[in-house]
Amino acid sequence: LHAERFCATTDAFNFTARTMSSRRMHAAVFDAPGPPEVVEYREVDVPSPGQGEVLIQVGAAAMNHLDLWVRRGLPIETTMPHIGGSDVAGIVVEAGDETARTLLGTRVVVNPGLSCGTCRECVFGQQSLCPDFRILGEHTDGGFADFVVAPIANLHLIPDHVSFETAATLPVSYSTAWRALISRARVRAGEDVLVIGASGGTAIAAIQIAKLAGARVFAVTSGAHNVRRVKELGAEVVYDRLEVDFARALHADTRRRGVDIVVENVGTPTWESSIRSLAPGGRLVTYGATAGPAAEIDLRRLFWRQLEIIGTTMSSNGEFAAMLRVAFSGALSPVIDEILPLSQAPAAHSRLETGTHFGKLILVP
Ligand code: ZN
Repeated sequence: LHAERFCATTDAFNFTARTMSSRRMHAAVFDAPGPPEVVEYREVDVPSPGQGEVLIQVGAAAMNHLDLWVRRGLPIETTMPHIGGSDVAGIVVEAGDETARTLLGTRVVVNPGLSCGTCRECVFGQQSLCPDFRILGEHTDGGFADFVVAPIANLHLIPDHVSFETAATLPVSYSTAWRALISRARVRAGEDVLVIGASGGTAIAAIQIAKLAGARVFAVTSGAHNVRRVKELGAEVVYDRLEVDFARALHADTRRRGVDIVVENVGTPTWESSIRSLAPGGRLVTYGATAGPAAEIDLRRLFWRQLEIIGTTMSSNGEFAAMLRVAFSGALSPVIDEILPLSQAPAAHSRLETGTHFGKLILVP
């Protein structure tokens, strides 16, 4: 595998030399929001890195639910025409300034969280709370292309034994799950954790991180196939939400106590059951609302049972680095559903939308 990677590097540089003379590249682009069909695989200009930035030749880029929201036209400031892709791994091929030149030829994975670096939140090490917080591939052009520009401050070296495909699974999913469980919900060994919507990339990451922290994991997913796969990840009990009222089943399985932490990302359809699943003093941490943003809560339950509802998004630079360190040690095993050529990006959008995937969809230029 090692030798293969070095060959890939040489090929990459030959390819780069050819492409860079024309400054044109292939990318999965859309000109306006819409259904998966708006995504086109076509030629565009290669972007140029500025001060403090580098140009990366993309080795692999992973899809996230976020890519669907951006394509559908989330009310956010984004570039049009737009190239999505927040999870990027590749090789540094061009430096925007002198200091970046030492990075040429290195294999890197990008922290997609872009922050100002000077506000109070940034200085205190809470980058995802920065008022100017943005995400590569959401607010800027991302990695569904032959090349992408990224700030030097956001680059992390990939060890030789880790492939671009594996590295690309980590940024959004694993850093989000890391902050959600470790920092925000403060998971401790011996606690019970319930992960909702357990076939998605971030929920899979949450199951693995909760187990690593010494928690017992319960999970909710839909369909017999997903139940089996989630059990293989090490979840102790997995509920099929199409078959059972998971809050009720969980109470039976935890001797009417409930769980210490619920990890939510589904929203409206599961919210009430998620709240009912909390033990006294329990914490619900949420990083998404894939099936609807509206939710209600009985305040009497909230104060009498002393529950906590915690929002979280992405991660700080420190959390990102800690997550990578653990993942690269082999203690976390990302699940890849399928690796597709970048030209198949429209099909990958459709596939992610239908929810038939288990784990990550990876696009390779
Ligand atoms: Zn800031």
